[in-house]
Amino acid sequence: MGAAGSKLEKALGDHFPEGERYFGLENFGNTCYCNSVLQALYFCVPFRDKLLEYYEKNKNPADPEENLLTCLADLFTQISSQKKKTGVIAPKRFVQRVRKENELFRGYMHQDAHEFLNFLLNELVDILEKESSAAKDSSENSSSDKIANGPRNGLANGVQKEPLVTWVHKNFQGILTNETKCLRCETVTARDETFFDLSLDIEQNSSITSCLKNFSSTETLNAEDKFFCDKCCSLQEAQKRMKIKKPPHILVIHLKRFKYIENLGRYKKLSYRVVFPLELKLTNTMEDADSEYSLFAVVVHVGTGPNHGHYVSLVKSHNHWLFFDDENVDIIDESAVQTFFGSAQEYSSNSEHGYILFYERLTSVTS
Ligand SMILES: [Zn+2]
Repeated sequence: MGAAGSKLEKALGDHFPEGERYFGLENFGNTCYCNSVLQALYFCVPFRDKLLEYYEKNKNPADPEENLLTCLADLFTQISSQKKKTGVIAPKRFVQRVRKENELFRGYMHQDAHEFLNFLLNELVDILEKESSAAKDSSENSSSDKIANGPRNGLANGVQKEPLVTWVHKNFQGILTNETKCLRCETVTARDETFFDLSLDIEQNSSITSCLKNFSSTETLNAEDKFFCDKCCSLQEAQKRMKIKKPPHILVIHLKRFKYIENLGRYKKLSYRVVFPLELKLTNTMEDADSEYSLFAVVVHVGTGPNHGHYVSLVKSHNHWLFFDDENVDIIDESAVQTFFGSAQEYSSNSEHGYILFYERLTSVTS
């Protein structure tokens, strides 16, 4: 590790960013799904800053209770406060905690990085919500920081508890609108839903922009799949489409590379080439201006099948691109990012494919 570390330090030389740490993460037997996601989150600076802040505020609790949030805050603090600029850290407590909390991640089988990310973010939200309601119980303070979360209904019945907006929501949460138009009476029904990431169907030789276009394209509901129109009080043909109502600050895009193939009776990995740009414009939003995003991390799946393989990540930090493969950290050229787009032919020696993309919004957000 010393040699690899000093190689990286040499490569960065005088450009080594002040205060930044680049640490590989030890693998405890197929924990690359976790390591790759942790690196992407560590280099999600607004998220990291909140975690470090959380650690500072909570480092000496009256009743020290360990949970995923405290373990993650602890790990990030451990990395950021290292004396050395590079090296390897063992995220042992965090991984133990993950295995304790979720039996899915307990085995030594290959795990899905996207499932893990989802689990982690939802778990952090749960912990923050519990802490907030515990704090509220002890001191009946009124929080003004609330908006609806999850499918909203317009009914102000006063019974429904408004969920709290945590810093996890502020970073990752966006809102989608599902619009359905009855083709008989033309009434449009809109239903909002929140998301932490967008899961996109992919096609061979496509791009994120075209996948997003398909995601928002109009779908006709007919035959067996008609829509119950409240106004017509009956099943009617309808048109449905999804639009992004509120783009998130951090846009996480999950490419659906693992597809269930009916006649094979199993999942297959799609190695399709899907171009993901370094700068992305979101055009299918309901906001007036396009939202511009910059790519800062990619979780890459390495391998040919869904049940085995490896995960690594690419991360952009202070205008340098780095490659994280468990313990190993290397600096790479920005042009190398495109080698992770996928394979234009089905059988290709290249088996390293971008799987989860992390974009940060560039344009200012009003919140
Ligand atoms: Zn109708």
